[in-house]
This record gives sequence, structure tokens and C-alpha cells, in this order.
Amino acid sequence: MSQALIDELTRFCLMKTDEYRMELLDMVDRLGSEEAAFQICWRTYQWPTGTPEHALDEFARMISLERLLEINQKHGISRVEEAVVGVARTIPRFNPHGGFAGLLRFFRELVSIAVNNGGSLVKYFAKFTDAKILENDLSKLPGIGPVLAPGIVRELRLADIIKLDIKNVNLSPADPVMRVLERTHIIPKDATLEEADKVVRMKFKVPPMALDAGLWHIGFYYCREKPECDICPIMHICPKCMEGEAHG
Ligand code: SF4
Repeated sequence: MSQALIDELTRFCLMKTDEYRMELLDMVDRLGSEEAAFQICWRTYQWPTGTPEHALDEFARMISLERLLEINQKHGISRVEEAVVGVARTIPRFNPHGGFAGLLRFFRELVSIAVNNGGSLVKYFAKFTDAKILENDLSKLPGIGPVLAPGIVRELRLADIIKLDIKNVNLSPADPVMRVLERTHIIPKDATLEEADKVVRMKFKVPPMALDAGLWHIGFYYCREKPECDICPIMHICPKCMEGEAHG
């Protein structure tokens, strides 16, 4: 594994992080911090399913935090759940993470957090003075865990909804991220989260969460189970691709 590979991955990942930041700031401009925070949470929850963007957008048009809080106040949490599942079921290719039961548990908890913080998720985030503690708290949300919690913290930080320093937030061990790191020989095969985080911190000069968006992008769109090295943005520098192993 060469320094050139580390430098090129760093450049690509920082560029992707910058692109995501622009998209997130635009979302905050359009919706305001509260609704943007709500969308960041449930869109991150849905990451593992690969639900297409148009299906997520359709869901977002019908489900807002404001609407769910209103339903909760007038009719209680069971009607909130009915609304969420009712809408999700009407959207083709909306594939609920953890099935509809998982989706219900997640939204019930998210709405409860907002209710317990005066109708605001932003107020809940503002209670934290350390990104790592926020990450740990978010990881307890149904269906989130250690893989998705760093993602929520990263998105909230890029959107300027929180201002906490995310250097101490763990690498998110999502499958696409781990695949890229393994195939480029940066981490050993079957490395644990702790091992992977340690290696990444040792080899790169930027924090793991600054790399997350770019690594995920490469792993999700190119470095799949069957890698598509011929169109991958790092094919010119990837040792596995150059050795021709990825096609074996
Ligand atoms: S070049 Fe191939 S093996 Fe390397 S990261 Fe891209 S898809 Fe994966």
C-alpha cells in the first residue's frame, strides 16, 4: 500500500465530503434546521436498504416532523405510526430498514425524543458537548447502532446543525466502507471496528469521519460484491485493481 494511494483516497474523500456538505447546507436553507435534522436522521436510518433517492424524496414530501408532532399531540403515538407506515407502503421501492416493525420503532423513538425536548430534535442535539457522547446516545436508537450513529453525527456536523468537533467519532464500519479499505489493503481482512479505526487514524492525516462519505461512495457504487474496477474513480491507484485480483 503506497503513500500515493493514501493521498489520492484522501483527496477524493474530502471532495465527496465537501459535495455532501453543499447538499446538506442547501437542505437546511430550504427546510430549516429542525426539518433538516429530522430528515438527516431517518434518511441515515434508511441507508442500508439502498432505497432510491426518488422514493426517499416522495416519503419526505408527505412525512415531516411538524406533521408527526401535530398528529401525536391530537391523536397519540399510535396514529403517528399509522401515518408513517401508511405513507411508506404507498411508495414503490421504499424498502423499510428492519421491515415495517423496525421502521415503526425508529420513528416512535425519534418523535419521543423531539416531544421530550419541547418539540425539537435540534434542542436535543444541543445538549451534547462532545460528539462521541452524542454518537453513543444515537447508537441506542432502534436500528441505528455503531454503524449508522457516526453517519448521523457526520451529517449533522456537515449541515452545521451541530458544531461539535467530530475528530473523535469512530469510523463507521458500514459494509461498503470496509470493503474498500480491505480491497485496497489498507486494513487486514476481517478487521474489527477498533482495528480498522486505529489503522485509518495511523495512516491518514484526516479523521476517519472526513473519509467516510468518499469511502462509502466508492464501496456502494463501484466496489460492490462484484467490483466494477473498470469505472471506479480510484482504479488508477488501487493495488487490487492493478493486480487484477478484483476480477478473480
Ligand atoms: S478499483 Fe476495484 S477493487 Fe479497487 S476500490 Fe475500485 S472497485 Fe474496489
